[in-house]
Amino acid sequence: MSERVGFIGLGIMGRGMARNLLRAGFDLCVWNRTAAKMEEFAKAGARTAADPADLAAQSDIIITCVSDTPDVEEVLLGERGVIHGAQPGALVIDTSTISPQATKVMAARLAERGIHMLDAPISGGSEGAEQGTLSIMVGGDAEQVARAMPVFRAIGKTITHVGGHGAGQMVKLVNQILVVVTMLGISEALVFAQAGGLDLEKTLQAVSGGAAGSWMLTHRAPQVIRRDWRPGFTIDLQQKDLRLVLEAADQLGVPALGTGLVFNLYRVLQRAGLGHEGNHALVKALERLAGITVGER
Ligand code: NAP
Repeated sequence: MSERVGFIGLGIMGRGMARNLLRAGFDLCVWNRTAAKMEEFAKAGARTAADPADLAAQSDIIITCVSDTPDVEEVLLGERGVIHGAQPGALVIDTSTISPQATKVMAARLAERGIHMLDAPISGGSEGAEQGTLSIMVGGDAEQVARAMPVFRAIGKTITHVGGHGAGQMVKLVNQILVVVTMLGISEALVFAQAGGLDLEKTLQAVSGGAAGSWMLTHRAPQVIRRDWRPGFTIDLQQKDLRLVLEAADQLGVPALGTGLVFNLYRVLQRAGLGHEGNHALVKALERLAGITVGER
């Protein structure tokens, strides 16, 4: 019999993953802070819980996908947190992007109660969550990674066990450096192309299949040209990830020049009230500097 799965956090990413777990036939229980987001899952056959502790009491594997480090701490260790409902032997899989250091501390706190934990942050955007094609970077014990594989296969395509507790989060931060510095390059290139009077769609068509091709170029550059700022990933959450990168880089004593630059450009956009827009709206910071609007005819 497959293990009972509980899912906490039905946001942009969580709802796609939870839908795929239901589709794969898992016995699923869900909890979301804003209760209305649980309705579609109840209709589709999932159980709903009153709080994280209640969800944990009904689950063998508990998956979390919430915003930031304090939010994971709250749903796992808070007053009505998972730790108060989970049985010894239960497995917590945190797919949020949070502090690698705090992840190690939480794994140790859960281990005191015999509860296992994997950090399993994800990449692939809202599209990847919907389609079940996420990349998952996993930190923790090999035995628990093997146990989690049926769940991972229902939500992701590239599953890599990268090391012990916290290593998944460190690799995710590597991923975020790559994403934002790529988006900076795309933004600069589009402002340049606009200034040069190029046909932007033809330009993208010409460069996407070459050495400059990337997931961000394929999925987000067309959105920039259409001036569609709906978020696959909001600037506010992206900024949280860059804060985590800069904190870790500081602890490691390594420079992070590109990340620091993008962090400050996103800060400009947050101050302009654009934190809810997608991370590809980074282009707006460069447009302001250049006095040029991409896509304007
Ligand atoms: P989102 O749409 O803003 O959803 C956030 C979810 O977390 C919501 O369900 C929210 O509940 C819940 N939440 C936040 N704080 C909470 C708290 N203190 N207690 C209980 N629930 C709380 O965000 P998302 O884009 O799905 O991102 C979720 C995580 O995945 C983040 O760590 C993000 O960095 C990571 N991630 C996102 C992407 C992406 O492309 N979007 C890609 C990879 C990784 P409410 O509904 O009540 O607000």
